[in-house]
Amino acid sequence: MVTTLAKFHQLLTKSLTADLEYQNYTRQVANASYSFCDPIKPSQPQSISYVKEVAGLLGIGAKDELSKEWQAILSGSKVANGTKPFAMRYGGHQFGNWAGQLGDGRAINLGNIVHDGQSLELQLKGAGPTPYSRAGDGFAVLRSSIREYLCSEAMHHLGIATTRALSLITTGDWVTRDMFYDGHPEQEPGAVVCRVAPSFIRFGNFQIHAAYQELDLLKQLADFTIKNYFPNLIEKSIDKQTYIAWFDTVCHLTADMIVHWQRVGFVHGVMNTDNMSLHGLTIDYGPYGFLDNFDPDWTPNTTDAQGKRYRYANQPYIAHWNLLKLAEAIYPLIEDAKPLEAILNQFPDDYQSQWHTMMANKLGFDRVLPSDQKLFTDLEKLLTSVETDMTIFYRELAKFDGQLNSVSTLLKDAYYQTEPLTNEYQQARNQWFLAYIQRLKQNSISTSEKVRLMNRTNPKYVLRNYLTQVAIDKAHQNDYSEIDKLLEIMRQPYAEQPEYQDYYQKRPEWARHKAGCSMLSCSS
Ligand code: AMP
Ligand code: MG
Repeated sequence: MVTTLAKFHQLLTKSLTADLEYQNYTRQVANASYSFCDPIKPSQPQSISYVKEVAGLLGIGAKDELSKEWQAILSGSKVANGTKPFAMRYGGHQFGNWAGQLGDGRAINLGNIVHDGQSLELQLKGAGPTPYSRAGDGFAVLRSSIREYLCSEAMHHLGIATTRALSLITTGDWVTRDMFYDGHPEQEPGAVVCRVAPSFIRFGNFQIHAAYQELDLLKQLADFTIKNYFPNLIEKSIDKQTYIAWFDTVCHLTADMIVHWQRVGFVHGVMNTDNMSLHGLTIDYGPYGFLDNFDPDWTPNTTDAQGKRYRYANQPYIAHWNLLKLAEAIYPLIEDAKPLEAILNQFPDDYQSQWHTMMANKLGFDRVLPSDQKLFTDLEKLLTSVETDMTIFYRELAKFDGQLNSVSTLLKDAYYQTEPLTNEYQQARNQWFLAYIQRLKQNSISTSEKVRLMNRTNPKYVLRNYLTQVAIDKAHQNDYSEIDKLLEIMRQPYAEQPEYQDYYQKRPEWARHKAGCSMLSCSS
């Protein structure tokens, strides 16, 4: 049992400006960065799963189960001594349009814990309404909580910056959801996930202060953020140059994150500015998904099915657009557009150069050559021309022995179609592989180094949407075993793990059009 009760600190609430209204009702909040509000006590909380490693990061022990006291805190049943829970106020651009005040509508922050010199904030998602709940109820359903819980950890172990997950607890209460907004609401089991991150500050936290001309609060939030999370940017004191350097850093962190998303085929689904972490962390796992067949136009989000704004191929452009919105928000601190523009103008080139390096790693090249760009784009065309599983293609490619006649056998499990591949496709594939063989000859690393490079760049296991859906379907039958199993497999996505070979398979046909596997909405 994990018994140690670590001490909470109120880093953020002590430094930022609180809403003076203490009653918890939905409202527009002015002149504040957050509002105090307590979680709702669940009627019958049941601890389903927790991540020992994250508990370890917090110094709250890493044994077999959480202590009763921690379970009570993480389910929202009990407010820990010394904490004063709060919800953050933020705004955001949703699908390209300014949406005004959004805020933590179903997330309640408990404060932060400092352990081993690292400060981490704990946040309960789905623990009841806050002043920012707008038309929502503040709760979360089990299916979306499982998705958030599993993917936070899967992304971390894929080597991608993300918020982490500590615990998954069912509440024993029912939550009504109309999953596809089509007039069919149903009762679903409720759950609370505790997420953990250095902070949950988003682009939208700055945007709300800028939108309402709360410039003193904008400066307070920016200075707080820089002092606590980017202290190395401060020379003597925080001045215009510091803000510029800080914006530049956020651009780099964001670019890094997106390159990694593209590497593993992760599609966030709702890249609104309120879902963009200031730390470049993947945040807010809603209707996300991993590409099964490589389709640059794919988005898992049915709410975005028309415009496909947040499709896979668009993610870098959206990140850039979101950074522009952040620049606009922090402009009053700098009052000089030129340096911000210069940084934004640099973003596409920096991103592209990082993308090239990432693609080179995927193909096993030790460096990027000027001629590689064509190889990369031709490959993406090839992968798109016939439904090809992205994960299997790249993972199998590491086994390529340099012989053209071995390609068919090598890739046989990567194709979704059962009928034979057309001659035209096979010719295009041969052409690409001939160019690849030539290119490999210019590599200055050994074959075994090349294989190692590819196998640490191309995961064998990703959290395919249908795998999570299987875990959800079982959980709805009170069998939670698949959740821990997936956690375990996804802890080592680059390792062979032959005992889990079944999880290295393309999406089964039954999952092609099944809700939760290929289609998800924001309803969670
Ligand atoms: P998301 O699309 O999940 O990023 O959410 C957008 C906004 O809606 C955020 O302000 C959320 O806090 C809020 N929201 C989403 N679901 C709920 C809910 N069930 N209750 C209250 N607010 C919600
Ligand atoms: Mg959100």
